[in-house]
Amino acid sequence: MSGDTIVKPTTYGGVPPVLVDYAATAGFSWADARRRLAPGGRLNIAAVALDRQLELGRGDVTALRCIDRGGAVTEVSYRDLHGQACRFANLLQGLGVGRGGRVFSLLGRVPELHVAVLGTLRQGAVFSPLFAAFGPGPVLDRLQLGRAEVVVTTDQLYRRRIKDLRGQVPTLRHVLVLDPEPDIADEVVDLRAALAAASPDHPLAPTTDEDMALLHFTSGTTGTPKGAVHVHAAVVAHHVSAASALDLRPGDTYWCTADPGWVTGISYGVIAPLTHGVTSVVDAREFDARGWYGVLAEHGVNVWYTAPTALRMLMRSGSEVAAEFDLSALRHIASVGEPLNPEVVLWGQRALGLPVHDNWWQTETGAIMISNYRSMDIRPGSMGRPLPGVEATVLARGDDGRALVVDGAVTPVPAGELGELALRRGWPSMFRGYLDADARYRSAFAGDWYLTGDLARVDVDGYFWFVGRADDVIKSAGHLIGPFEVESALMEHGAVAEAGVIGKPDELAGELVKAFVTVKPGVVADDALRRDLLAFGRRRLGGLAPREIEFDQHLPHTSSGKVMRRLLKARELGLPEGDLSTLEATR
Ligand code: ATP
Ligand code: MG
Repeated sequence: MSGDTIVKPTTYGGVPPVLVDYAATAGFSWADARRRLAPGGRLNIAAVALDRQLELGRGDVTALRCIDRGGAVTEVSYRDLHGQACRFANLLQGLGVGRGGRVFSLLGRVPELHVAVLGTLRQGAVFSPLFAAFGPGPVLDRLQLGRAEVVVTTDQLYRRRIKDLRGQVPTLRHVLVLDPEPDIADEVVDLRAALAAASPDHPLAPTTDEDMALLHFTSGTTGTPKGAVHVHAAVVAHHVSAASALDLRPGDTYWCTADPGWVTGISYGVIAPLTHGVTSVVDAREFDARGWYGVLAEHGVNVWYTAPTALRMLMRSGSEVAAEFDLSALRHIASVGEPLNPEVVLWGQRALGLPVHDNWWQTETGAIMISNYRSMDIRPGSMGRPLPGVEATVLARGDDGRALVVDGAVTPVPAGELGELALRRGWPSMFRGYLDADARYRSAFAGDWYLTGDLARVDVDGYFWFVGRADDVIKSAGHLIGPFEVESALMEHGAVAEAGVIGKPDELAGELVKAFVTVKPGVVADDALRRDLLAFGRRRLGGLAPREIEFDQHLPHTSSGKVMRRLLKARELGLPEGDLSTLEATR
C-alpha cells in the first residue's frame, strides 16, 4: 500500500455531505431503503425515476439539460420526460413488445436515450444499451446473444450498423429510428412521429423486484464481454449509492460523462440522478479539455462523475487551462472505471479545487460498492470503503491466483495482505446471471461471496486498495506486482501522461515489468528520457520498477476508457489479439 498522504475532507461552501458519518451507517438496511422508495409496494425503476418525482412535486424541475453536437441547449422537465416515457411504453405496447421483451439502443448522448430506457422499463421490457461506436461484429453478437426484438437508433447508425444484419437477427422485429430519411421510411418506425401519435397515459407494468430490467455487457477488458442481467430492485442501490458516494441531492446540477453504451452511463447517467430529482447535463459532444471545463463552468455543475482516463487527459492538457474557468459550483468529483492514480487525486485538489473521489464497482455489481465519501479522509490510491449495506473482504488465493475455495468455504486474509476482492451477496443491484452462461455465473460465487476477479488489499482502517485484475498481476522474481502501482509511480514523473504496464516473460525472473509510456505534449521521447524514467522508477519502486520502457503515444483503450493491458501483452508477445470488439478506435 502506497502513500502516507491523506486528504482531509473540506466543507466546500458549507454544504454538509449527504453521508455525514460513515461510522453511523452500521444499522443500514436495504429493506428499509427499498420501502422508502416504493412505499406502495411495487417497484419499477422508471416509476422511482419519474412517477415518484412527480408525486414529490418535481414535475417542473429540469430533468435533462441537453447539449447537442452544435452546442445548442434544450431542457426537458420531469413532467415532459414522464410523458415521453409513457408514450414510448405505449409505442412498445402497440408493437407487441411486453414484459421481458428486449429493447436495444444504439445511440449517443441524446434525450431519446433516456426516453427509451424509461419507457422500456415502464412497459416491463428489458433494456440493453450498445456503444454507438461499435463495429458491425460487436453489434451483431450482442443483438443475437440478447435476442433483441427492438433497436432504437439514428438514421446514420441504422444504415451503417443495423440494416445489413437484420436478416441475421431473427428475433429483431422493429427498428425505431430518430429522424429517418424518406428512403428508409418503409423499413423502420419513425420514432418521433410514433411518439407523437402515442398516448401519454400508460399504466405502469406490474413488475416485481426480481423482474429482469437491464442487460449490460461488460467492457471486455480481460476477454470476451459477458451479458450481465440486472433486475428492477437494482434501483434501490442506484439511489442509495448516488446519495452516499456521489453526494447527490435534489436541486443539484450533475454531469456524468460516461457513455450510455456502458453500465455507468445508464446506472448513473440516466437512472440514479432522476431518482434524486436532480438536473443532469447530457452533452452529446466528444471530449475536449476546454469544452469540458466550459460545461462545468457554464452549467454550474455541482457533482461531476467521470473516469480516470478523462481526468488524465485533462491533466495532460495543463492546469493553466483549468484556471481559465470558474469551477466554484463544483462540490464533489468522483471517478470510476479503472484505478485512479494518486497523482490525479492530488492534481484535482490543485487544479480543480477538489480532490477526486475514487470509487469501485463492476458491470456485475450494478452500482458503486466501494467508495471515498465526502466526509471521510481520502488516502490517494485507495478505492475507499464499502458502501453502507455492502460487505467486502479480501480472500486468500490458491495456485491459480483466484480465491481458494475449499468445500464451498473461503478464508479472508489479514489486513495488508493481497487476495481476491469479494462481496457478500444480497445487495439489490447484484447481477442475477450471465446471459446464456449459467455455469460461469455459478462459478463467480463461493457460498455467500461473490468473487470479483480483482485483487486487492484492505488496510487496518478498512480502506481497500486495488492491486490489479487477477489476470493482470505480474509475478517477477518472487514479487507480486500490480501494474497499477507501477503506472501510478511513472505518472508522478513530469514527462509522463499515461502508462500501461505488463509482465513480459523472462527466464530469470519469471516475468519482468515492461511499461508502455505516453509522454505529455511537447516532450521528446528519446533515450535520455527512457534512462531517466528507468532511474526514476528504481528510486520510487525498487524491485518493482520497470526494466523496459517503450514509448507509445497511442495506448490501446477499451471504448469505455480503460487501458487494455491484455492487448499490450498480446502484441508484445506476438500472440493473437483476442476479442477486440471493445477496443476504442482512435484517441
Ligand atoms: P471484462 O469483465 O469484460 O474483462 P471489465 O471488467 O473492464 O471487462 P467493467 O465491468 O466495465 O468491465 O469494469 C469493471 C472493472 O473495472 C473492475 O472489475 C476493475 O477491474 C475495474 N475498475 C473499476 N473501477 C475501478 C477503480 N476505482 N479502481 C480500480 N479498478 C477499477
Ligand atoms: Mg470484469
